[in-house]
Amino acid sequence: MSRYWSPIVHKLTPYVPGEQPKSTNLVKLNTNENPYGPSPRVIAALQAAVGDTLRLYPDPGASALRETVARYHGLSADQVFVGNGSDEVLALVFQALLRHDAPLLFPDITYSFYPVYCRLYDIASETVPLTDAMAVDVDAYANRPCGGIILANPNAPTGIALPLPEIRRLLEQHPDQVVVIDEAYVDFGAESAIALIQEFPNVLVVQTLSKSRSLAGLRVGLAFGQQPLIEGLNRVKDSFNSYPIDRLALAGAIAAYEDEAYFQSTCKAVMSSRDWLTEQLETLGFRVLPSATNFIFVTHPEHDAAAVAAGLRTRNVIVRHFSLPRIAQYLRISIGTQEECAAVVEAMREVLAAVH
Ligand SMILES: *Cc1c(COP(=O)(O)O)cnc(C)c1O
Repeated sequence: MSRYWSPIVHKLTPYVPGEQPKSTNLVKLNTNENPYGPSPRVIAALQAAVGDTLRLYPDPGASALRETVARYHGLSADQVFVGNGSDEVLALVFQALLRHDAPLLFPDITYSFYPVYCRLYDIASETVPLTDAMAVDVDAYANRPCGGIILANPNAPTGIALPLPEIRRLLEQHPDQVVVIDEAYVDFGAESAIALIQEFPNVLVVQTLSKSRSLAGLRVGLAFGQQPLIEGLNRVKDSFNSYPIDRLALAGAIAAYEDEAYFQSTCKAVMSSRDWLTEQLETLGFRVLPSATNFIFVTHPEHDAAAVAAGLRTRNVIVRHFSLPRIAQYLRISIGTQEECAAVVEAMREVLAAVH
């Protein structure tokens, strides 16, 4: 507390990211990072970008990156926005497109950054409960007065994906509001709402290079939508930071989209380890929600989730536990390499034998 703070600072409850431990001999499965490194082409592009040109500002419009990504998705460059990680993109989206008189709607269980942005930007919000099966129920959003809707699809931390026809129904229900689809995990087995952009002026899709493209450390996020939505984002961005994407991030991000084979093969490896880990944990008595992401959300009928997480921690495995009432008995486990997944199963056997 300080008397020097702006009044709003007293009311903030900042987001708490997953632990980034100093120790490296841990099986770190708590922040959904990709276990495989970035494409070798990304590393080469980053190295090539290190040099005297770093004395110059980067392109404020990041046009080479926007053109590359637009081509990749069959869009035009003015339908693409880029920012310093999708968390920054989301912050700009909340300010530029979701701050209205009526409340913003999002699920009761979802990415916990959304309520944080609401407090930062003074946006009223209401949560809409997931079904008993932890899925988004589009009908529960119908006829609810709102200023906008944001969904993570697949949802986090449940991992459950909403099929595209359901997103379409949601967009049709709310023609006068922006519906934001946060697709941080879409590449691990869900369908992207980018396919709906030409048809719906109210859909904004947000993606990141942090998960499926293994570049959490580079900080690049994207938004896709019709040009007026992108222009709104640019107006706020250019009132805040003209250069969110530095020269290295620009070079690395472009290279990531130029190595489709590496992208496909690493996503496939993660998905196949996910399916293996799901089966193994089911054999140990866990209930595993159907995941279309690079993590699984699991609960055990006979073992306390927080105690299991603590037991895993003493065996050098870190997973994520959220102390929200509805999901207090669940653990979120990121998918590591096949060896890391095998280590989780091994540690879990020991923990279940020891903890009740
Ligand atoms: C990881 C994640 C993000 C943030 O990604 P960055 O691009 O690294 O900021 C956004 N939304 C969801 C749902 C995520 O899980």
